[in-house]
Amino acid sequence: MKTIIEPFKIKSIEPIYFNTREEREKILEEAYYNLFLIHSRDVLIDLLTDSGTSAMSSGQWAGIMQGDESYAGSPSFYRFEEAVRTVTGLPLVIPTHQGRAAEKILFHLLGGKGKFILSNNLFDTTRANIEFSGAEGIDLVCEEGKHPSFPAPFKGNVDTAALQKFIEKTGAQNIPLVILTVTNNSGGGQPVSMRNIRETRAICDRHGIPLFIDACRFAENAYFIKLREEGYAGKPVPEIVKELFSYADGCTMSAKKDAFANIGGFLALRDEKLARQCRNLLIITEGFPTYGGLAGRDLEAIAIGLREVMDEHYLQYRIRSIEYLANKLIDAGVPIIRPAGGHAVYLDAKAFNTHIPPDQYPGQALACALYLAGGIRGVEIGSLMFGKYDAARRLVPAPMELVRLAIPRRVYTQSHIDYVAEVVIEVFRKKREIQGLEITEEAPMLRHFTAKLRPVSGNGPAALF
Ligand SMILES: *Cc1c(COP(=O)(O)O)cnc(C)c1O
Repeated sequence: MKTIIEPFKIKSIEPIYFNTREEREKILEEAYYNLFLIHSRDVLIDLLTDSGTSAMSSGQWAGIMQGDESYAGSPSFYRFEEAVRTVTGLPLVIPTHQGRAAEKILFHLLGGKGKFILSNNLFDTTRANIEFSGAEGIDLVCEEGKHPSFPAPFKGNVDTAALQKFIEKTGAQNIPLVILTVTNNSGGGQPVSMRNIRETRAICDRHGIPLFIDACRFAENAYFIKLREEGYAGKPVPEIVKELFSYADGCTMSAKKDAFANIGGFLALRDEKLARQCRNLLIITEGFPTYGGLAGRDLEAIAIGLREVMDEHYLQYRIRSIEYLANKLIDAGVPIIRPAGGHAVYLDAKAFNTHIPPDQYPGQALACALYLAGGIRGVEIGSLMFGKYDAARRLVPAPMELVRLAIPRRVYTQSHIDYVAEVVIEVFRKKREIQGLEITEEAPMLRHFTAKLRPVSGNGPAALF
């Protein structure tokens, strides 16, 4: 087997601005040890997110020049609509400015007080939109999905027995929909099997509940099905994708993920009445139904991206490049979620920094150490992001302390990833030197975006790692 190469050449480049360890110490201190507060120019390799950070193709840039900016009835919209219909088989297509706008409309109409929305794992914006409507979001991921180091092929699956039980206990009339997130972002980018989707559909059918897909990474999920599920090895990805959506009554999508776009999203449905209600809301919040918060050129970029993402040379390279980083780290003994997800490698900071207690934010300390050591920006997904306080204002830690290294699509080459592995391994070898952090200022909600921290030692950044 030869090396799997990047299935593209580079036509246009963006410079990386190098800085020194000393400069990074100053930058980190001035950003109060919060990587969200660092300018992206001061980052060497930016693995904060894979959302909206894809490199677009020459085809997409050419499409952008074809964008027609008419308010109503733009040909760009019809090309976009046709692409979504072809890829998903869902007939009614509603553009939105990004994924959460589609969620807002859907859950405003179907959510509400006393309702429960069931899922494998809800993404944070999805959960926020459900709760904002007054409904409750319930995560029912399978047992394997709860154990970071335990490798299994489909750790994103919903626990169908728990799903069935929850519906029977709560009553189908209180459950307006079930939504499966593919791949499961909050659970480590782990895929859902076709069998699990089919079984979920059967349970929904028995109770008359619609099934939706949070489709942000549908192509990555489909490729995992091809690689790992019996009966799919010989099937072309577009066929697997079609089958996946054939079980759904609708989907929400962020085009900032598996459509290689820098902005955009959509809602796609089968039910005419629901689509009419959605379009009525769309006009208030997003715009006229043939552009929905997007420029005509964005619609073109998405239409082209949706087709490009199903190219199997691309998907092979994509999945393999995440696995490549994961394997390098595993070989060096670095604790990560296994197996590698479709869009990111998740470092297990609890196992990494056993000497740092949860109330000294081992994940954030590790994320800061990676920045100091090599200018790499990841994101803490642990007690800084999800921690709460009890009545005595003691921290109630998050169940897992992770640092996510999300890989932007088509942006970094193998040598960038080799460098990332070198930095992570270097930090791992000297992990005992990493020191904990404490919060000095925080907002009441979503505190991780703006919180200010400092090393518990009272020393400056040079001593943090
Ligand atoms: C990114 C994401 C969303 C929200 O999409 P935005 O475009 O960021 O609003 C919803 N679900 C999942 C699984 C996501 O990864």
